Amino acid sequence: MQCPRCHNQDAQMFYQIDGQYYCRQCIPFHRVFVNEERQTESKEFLFHKPISYALNFQLSPSQQKISLRLLENYQNNLNSLVLAVCGSGKTEVVFELICYALNQGHRVCYCVPRKELVIELYQRLKEAFCNVTIGLLYGGHIENADSNFIVCTMHQLYRFENQIGFQLMIADEVDAFPYYGNDVLNEMFNRCCVGRYVKLSATIPLLKDNQDEVLIMNRRYHGHDLPVPKLLIIPTIFQGIVCKWLISHLQKKVIIYVSSIACVHKMVTYLASSFKVAGVSSQHMNNQETIQRFKDNQLDVIVSTTLLERGITIEDVQVIVYQGEKSIFDERTLTQIAGRVGRKPNHPSGKVYILASGRTKGIQQCIQNIKKLNSIDA
Ligand SMILES: [Zn+2]
Repeated sequence: MQCPRCHNQDAQMFYQIDGQYYCRQCIPFHRVFVNEERQTESKEFLFHKPISYALNFQLSPSQQKISLRLLENYQNNLNSLVLAVCGSGKTEVVFELICYALNQGHRVCYCVPRKELVIELYQRLKEAFCNVTIGLLYGGHIENADSNFIVCTMHQLYRFENQIGFQLMIADEVDAFPYYGNDVLNEMFNRCCVGRYVKLSATIPLLKDNQDEVLIMNRRYHGHDLPVPKLLIIPTIFQGIVCKWLISHLQKKVIIYVSSIACVHKMVTYLASSFKVAGVSSQHMNNQETIQRFKDNQLDVIVSTTLLERGITIEDVQVIVYQGEKSIFDERTLTQIAGRVGRKPNHPSGKVYILASGRTKGIQQCIQNIKKLNSIDA
């Protein structure tokens, strides 16, 4: 016996109800019966008026190139993978394709791993595509789920598994938790897709052993290089002092990334006598308020866990990674952290320091990859 969704074959993980077996392994995503017949129906929706979208800026040449290629691939029945460095504006490169698919009467789904991201994405899509109803789904929220254009978290995909499928599926941040390495989410994604997909990733790991065409967007939309992290090998006991020195020396807003919530508390206490500092983690209250104070220049330093690794844009910010030798700072996380710097056109560069007691594989690969991406001529 095998689960059609998570491919689990462990007999102990199957339970019986009314003579039918279902899988317990992927039960958090709704019950799946072993012998179920899945609908793979696809239906074309027709609009009274053509769908259009508007952007309040022009795509950069490398964005335009990728945008066109995605459209060609879709028309030729091919999947695409986009490797887009942080801050290169990868969301906008799929707009043309979305617009095309919707006008063909295709059903479209754009999914991302986490709830905070889905809300932000929804806002952006709603602003651009103003003449179509967009469905929005995440934990605890369902809005227009029958729309032909859906934005949702990957966890919500189970709701669509036995429905009319999507001819176009777009998955963003496929290199991030919880999607990366999660077979159930992967399979749910495949089960919802009755046409072609586009997967977007900011780091390289996912791209190993894949069959789809990889499109590389190595330039940020402002055309500048990604900052290459500077590794400072320093024994752990001296890293605190070096942090203080760097903050005073940089004379700019700094985010310090640490490995644990306990470490956030310690570092905030340590720095509080010299700087205006606050902590951010899943246990801290008012994270949004803290980030806003930081943006408004009321704070010099934010000490954060990897919670702030993605999706946050703060102008003219510098970054320090404390105890970079810890295993939580792997290649993907460090690449994302480095990507926080220099995102805005008026401050396109900045410093990224990694303080570590030694050079780990993650640090080495992160630095190598960023150098490689900067050297590709797009
Ligand atoms: Zn299962």
